[in-house]
Amino acid sequence: MDIKNIIEKKSNGKELTKQEINFFVDGYTNGTIADYQASALLMAIKIVGMSKNETFFLTDAMLHSGEIIDLKNLGTTVDKHSTGGISDTTSIALVPICAACGVKMLKLSGRGLGFTGGTIDKLESFDGFNVDISVDQAKDLVKQNGCCIISATKNLAPADKKIYALRDATSTVSSIPLIASSVMSKKLASGADVIVLDVKYGNGAFMKTKKEALTLAKTMVEIGIKAGKKMDFVVDDMNEPLGFCIGNKLEAFEAIELLNGKTGKLRDVTLDLAAKCVALGLGVDYKIAYAKVVEVVDNKTALNKLKQMIKSQGGDLKLFKGTKLKPTQIVRSEKSGVLSKIDCAKLGTLVGQMGATRQKISDEIDYNVGVKTFHKIGNFVNKGDVIFEIYAKNKQQAQEFSQKFVDCYTITKNM
Ligand code: URA
Repeated sequence: MDIKNIIEKKSNGKELTKQEINFFVDGYTNGTIADYQASALLMAIKIVGMSKNETFFLTDAMLHSGEIIDLKNLGTTVDKHSTGGISDTTSIALVPICAACGVKMLKLSGRGLGFTGGTIDKLESFDGFNVDISVDQAKDLVKQNGCCIISATKNLAPADKKIYALRDATSTVSSIPLIASSVMSKKLASGADVIVLDVKYGNGAFMKTKKEALTLAKTMVEIGIKAGKKMDFVVDDMNEPLGFCIGNKLEAFEAIELLNGKTGKLRDVTLDLAAKCVALGLGVDYKIAYAKVVEVVDNKTALNKLKQMIKSQGGDLKLFKGTKLKPTQIVRSEKSGVLSKIDCAKLGTLVGQMGATRQKISDEIDYNVGVKTFHKIGNFVNKGDVIFEIYAKNKQQAQEFSQKFVDCYTITKNM
C-alpha cells in the first residue's frame, strides 16, 4: 500500500477501505508516514468528508492504537462526554448524582484546552485532590464509592493524540468525521457500557449551529451503537456561559452550589444529562430516572457523594464551606439596555489568559483566577449594575482585563 495513492483516492472523492485507513493510522503513529502526507490526507478528508463506514474504521483504528480499559468486573458503567464549553462544570455535579442513583462511573477527564476549561483542572481546586491514580486504584474506588474521576491515561488512543496535534496545526479540526472519530476513539477506549454525549453549539463551541451539533451528535451515536454501546445525547447552546462562573475554583464551587439546590441553566442541563445516564445505566424510563436524579439532589445524597469522592481521592473539603475568594475588581455597566450578545469564546479565552488554563505546557495553572457573571442573554441591565466580578492575580491584572471583559458583552438600548 502507498500513502500517495490513498491521498489521491480520497481527494478524488472515493471511499477508503478499512485496510487503507488502518495503513494510514498505523503508519502515521509509528512514523513511517510523514506529517506532510498525513496533513494532505486530513485536508482531503475535511474537504470531501467521510462515509459512515470510513468514520467507523477511523475510530476503530485510533481506538486500537493504545490501551482499552476493561471495566467489566464493575457491572454496567456509564460515561458522559462534553465537546467542551464555557462555565461547563456539569461533570463535577453529574458524576456524584449518577453514583447516588446507583449508576457506576469511572470518568477519565481532561485539562483545559483553548478557550474551554477542563474538569481535571477544576477538581484540582480541591487542595490535594489526586487525579493521577492508576486505573486499578480507580476501579477500587468505584467499587467503594460508585464513582471516581481521574486524568485520562497517556496510552488512551495515542494515534488520536498525534493526529489531533497535527489537525490543530493544519486547520483540519473542524470536520465532523474527524471530530466524531477523535472523541469516540477515546470514549470507546475508556470502557464504559453507556455513553451520553453533550454536544455544544454556538460562538463558544466547535460547532457553530444547532444543525451541525445534531449532525455531530448523531454521527457519534452511530459509531457508539456500532461498537456495541448504549448511547444518548443532548445538544446545548453555548452562545452564553452555561453557569455564571468561569475559572477553576469558582466553577468547582458552582458545582457544589448546584448540589446544594441552586437553580438555573447549569442545573437544567446537568440533570437532563444525569437522567439520560441513569435511564440507560439502570434500564429505566427517562421520567423515572429524572425523578430519582431530582430526589438525590434535593435530599443532599449527591452532595455527600461528591464529598466522599473528593475525600477518597485525597482532596480537602474546605471548599464546601465557601471559596473565601474575594473579587479583585467589580465591573459595573456603563449603560442600560438588554444583554443581546455574549462573545462566549472570548470570555473563556480571557480567563485562560489570566492563568486558568495553560497557554504553554510549562505554565502553572492558577486555580483562583476567574470571572463571575450576573446576566444571561435577554436580561435587562441597568446602568451601574454589577456585570462582572473579576478574580485576578492582582489589581494590575484585573485592570488590564476589565475592559476586555466588558467588550465581550453587547448591550443594546432599544430591543
Ligand atoms: N475534542 C476532541 O477530542 N477531538 C476533536 O477533534 C475535537 C474536540
